[in-house]
Amino acid sequence: MKKKILSAFLILSLASSFTPLEISSQSSVYLCNSSNAKKYHYTKNCRGLSNCKHQIIKVSVQEAKKRGKTLCGWED
Ligand SMILES: [Zn+2]
Repeated sequence: MKKKILSAFLILSLASSFTPLEISSQSSVYLCNSSNAKKYHYTKNCRGLSNCKHQIIKVSVQEAKKRGKTLCGWED
């Protein structure tokens, strides 16, 4: 029994070690999940997102553009 739990834990920690690769991908952006938000952001900590009263969500650039968002003025 104990061995089973240990291997499950190992698989989980292996899986989570791959996450940083996804984060470093430039095709993902952050946006405020509000209809008033017009911008998307490259970083979650952007000052343009600090006013967000809604959930901050991570989406692809394509998805952000599809929602009518443009790149935040604080970046670039
Ligand atoms: Zn921004």
